[in-house]
Order: sequence, then structure tokens, then C-alpha cells
Amino acid sequence: MQLKKRTCNDCGGTGRLTCSHCGGHGGYSSGSRMGEYSSDHNNVPDNRTVWMTCTWCGGRRTLTCDRCHGMGYVEFYE
Ligand SMILES: [Zn+2]
Ligand SMILES: [Zn+2]
Repeated sequence: MQLKKRTCNDCGGTGRLTCSHCGGHGGYSSGSRMGEYSSDHNNVPDNRTVWMTCTWCGGRRTLTCDRCHGMGYVEFYE
């Protein structure tokens, strides 16, 4: 038995995964579809769209790979 390392399949060796919660955008546009605008309020600036930073990745767009804990490889005995 010997401790070996191999590249993590989940992240391809980068140790990071695209955040699945925000789709890799780092956040969400919020409120753009929530207003009760009608077309005759065109003179009102559309300032209801608020950028919400993704709480999962903190806006970094990636998450630490769960499988390798960000190392990019996994250890195994063989
Ligand atoms: Zn995210
Ligand atoms: Zn990984």
C-alpha cells in the first residue's frame, strides 16, 4: 500500500468549481421582474434591478471543490 495522488476528476485539477448557485456569474440580478411597471411609466428610471452578490461564492464565481478540498488532487492508497 502506497499513498498516491491523482488529479481530481471533479474539478480537473484546478481545485475550483464553477459556482452552481449563480451559474458562475458571481451573483444575481434581482428585482427586474418583480416590479409592477406598466408601459406608460417609461419616464421612471429602471433602478429596481439590484445586483445581489451570490452568498455561496461571495462573488468569486467559483467554489472550492468538495472532493479535493481545493487541492486539485485526491490521495488514495494503492
Ligand atoms: Zn455563486
Ligand atoms: Zn477537485
